[in-house]
Amino acid sequence: MEGLPLTESEIAGFGVGALLLCATVAAPKVDAFIAASQRRSLGMCKRCGDLRMIACSECRGVGSIKKGGPLVRILDDFYESLGEGSSPTQLIACTKCRSKGRTVCPECSKLR
Ligand SMILES: [Zn+2]
Ligand SMILES: [Zn+2]
Repeated sequence: MEGLPLTESEIAGFGVGALLLCATVAAPKVDAFIAASQRRSLGMCKRCGDLRMIACSECRGVGSIKKGGPLVRILDDFYESLGEGSSPTQLIACTKCRSKGRTVCPECSKLR
């Protein structure tokens, strides 16, 4: 191996390094994939892990959403007519999850 810039062990080292790099980059995806397949093999819901609840997509688990929609706009007009000027950002109760921040898992409700 004289004259070569890299020894065999160095090449092997690079190979392992590249492999580790790939593993590190791919790890979150692999984890998610393994978790999903594990849940499936355990008979658990792959979406919620048998909690039967998932974070509300409407309020993202907060339980309240920022103003918007016709009713809130009416309220905004009302506040403005009271002379409050620009109304502060209002949070209204999420109607989708009833302020719980969680909704029934669609996967589970589909199955059961
Ligand atoms: Zn919600
Ligand atoms: Zn589920």
